[in-house]
Amino acid sequence: MLLKASKCPDCERISIPSRTICPYCGKKAGVSTNIEVEGLGHIITFTELHMPPEGFEPPLKMALVKLTTDTMILCLEDEANHEEIYIGAPVEISSDSSDRFTFCIKD
Ligand SMILES: [Zn+2]
Repeated sequence: MLLKASKCPDCERISIPSRTICPYCGKKAGVSTNIEVEGLGHIITFTELHMPPEGFEPPLKMALVKLTTDTMILCLEDEANHEEIYIGAPVEISSDSSDRFTFCIKD
């Protein structure tokens, strides 16, 4: 799945979701270029919440994912994922019906 992102013209780093102010160098609104990036990467770390916020079923599994573009995003486990989660696992990112990023482990 392609993810909407923005690329800073100064530091060239990519932000997901798109931002009008670069979170890395502070470059102001209107200068970032909107792009789409492939939602592929790997798990940097993960956790499991046994008392998640209201509206979520425990255990809620979350992972910090580093995309191939070096961008880091926090994702929830996709309900279609049945693979064991581990650091370094290759993942594909999608979004759920509430526009939250979700990950599924790809072999
Ligand atoms: Zn920047």
